[in-house]
Amino acid sequence: MEFVSPDAVIAIARNLLPAGAELLRERFEVREGGLDASRERIIELVEGADAVVADPAVAVDEELLRAAGPGLRVVANFAVGYDNVDLDACRAAGVRVTNTPDVLTNATAELALALTLAAGRLVGEAERDLRAGHWRGWDPAAYRGQELSGATVGVVGLGRIGRRYAELLAGFDAGLLYSSRTPKPDAESRLGARRVELEELLARADVVSLHVPASAETRHLIDAAALARMKPTAVLVNTARGALVDLAALAAALREGRLGAAGLDVYEGEPKVPEELLAAPRAVLTPHIGSATVTARDAMAITVAENVIAVLEGREPPNPVV
Ligand code: NAP
Repeated sequence: MEFVSPDAVIAIARNLLPAGAELLRERFEVREGGLDASRERIIELVEGADAVVADPAVAVDEELLRAAGPGLRVVANFAVGYDNVDLDACRAAGVRVTNTPDVLTNATAELALALTLAAGRLVGEAERDLRAGHWRGWDPAAYRGQELSGATVGVVGLGRIGRRYAELLAGFDAGLLYSSRTPKPDAESRLGARRVELEELLARADVVSLHVPASAETRHLIDAAALARMKPTAVLVNTARGALVDLAALAAALREGRLGAAGLDVYEGEPKVPEELLAAPRAVLTPHIGSATVTARDAMAITVAENVIAVLEGREPPNPVV
């Protein structure tokens, strides 16, 4: 094991939960920016750091790498998605990048299921009306949503989270379609999922749930044209990344009755959420809480720390991206 200088500096750009932060503090000097850290503060904080702990709200780009300087060895992202990290710039700088897969798979899939049910059954709308004092008594025509049982569900991206979501649907007796870059024969035989092109999935599914990473290829995967292909009763669920959905087009489809409902956890440009989406009907909106369970978030924090410690001890990190 390589000797690790106790002087090694870890810059936690915003926040790392104690489960992980304590593991780092036991070994290294730790600086923490806090949840409200501005970009300027983060740039100052990383100067001379051996490791940077980032999260989806922290852009790790050439500017940040330059500010950190040549001693930087690892960027550990407190998330499984790493679209906030410029991987090419990290590679060029010889900096390792790690993420936190697996430990948040179930939590995120369960939130996707929660949003599927809440959006399909208009739970958000109904609850808002009740709280606002608009409930006038049992109404047979009000809040008529859709059942998941017997529905066709289209899973876009059958990776870890998409697959777990598909497994959770088993009790609902839903039909499963999926689109993916590569076939998943095991999921096809075990879950009865059928692989189709995205266009066919959009046209046939009663629920479309997104589970692909954000990339140049997937930006606005769901745009006005994709929404036009979907059934006017369909439910769109996005627990992946905001960049996948054109929010202006989605708000218009909801407003104009061209889409049944939407359940969203992530937004392009978050934490800002466009007014037109907030005003749109039949949308359930959560503030990026996919992995927000005690179990998942603590395990993610520990995973972050384990990756940092491995790199600084000269070992291969358990969850390398670069
Ligand atoms: P994963 O196991 O890597 O699964 C992603 C899947 O997407 C893979 O099966 C991959 O296909 C597929 N894919 C990638 N690019 C594609 C494309 N252009 N077209 C079609 N399919 C494509 O990742 P995961 O652990 O399930 O996480 C998925 C995403 O969820 C993360 O990237 C993250 O952004 C998001 N997430 C959000 C939250 C939240 O808090 N809301 C929490 C956790 C994760 P192949 O297998 O064929 O390569």
